[in-house]
Amino acid sequence: VDHDFRIGQIVHYVSYGTPNGEYTSECRAAVVTGVHGSQSKNLDLCVLNPEGMYFNVNVPYEGLEEGPTKTAGRPRGGTWHTQEDPRGD
Ligand SMILES: [Zn+2]
Repeated sequence: VDHDFRIGQIVHYVSYGTPNGEYTSECRAAVVTGVHGSQSKNLDLCVLNPEGMYFNVNVPYEGLEEGPTKTAGRPRGGTWHTQEDPRGD
């Protein structure tokens, strides 16, 4: 993933699932509203849910990299990735 993200670009935001599974963690479309420089992959996002929009700042990237935050091979809730990331959907 390169760091050339731009304001207005669409990425995927991963919603939080509920602990008892009423809602599962899902990809949502999100518009980039802020970019935190080349050293950070954190983005500010306007998340477009079917039920409405909300705004998140400093959302961490989680896509291709394996890591301790990964749960069951899916990106963690509260993170973003690109539509092109193979794990995205
Ligand atoms: Zn996705």
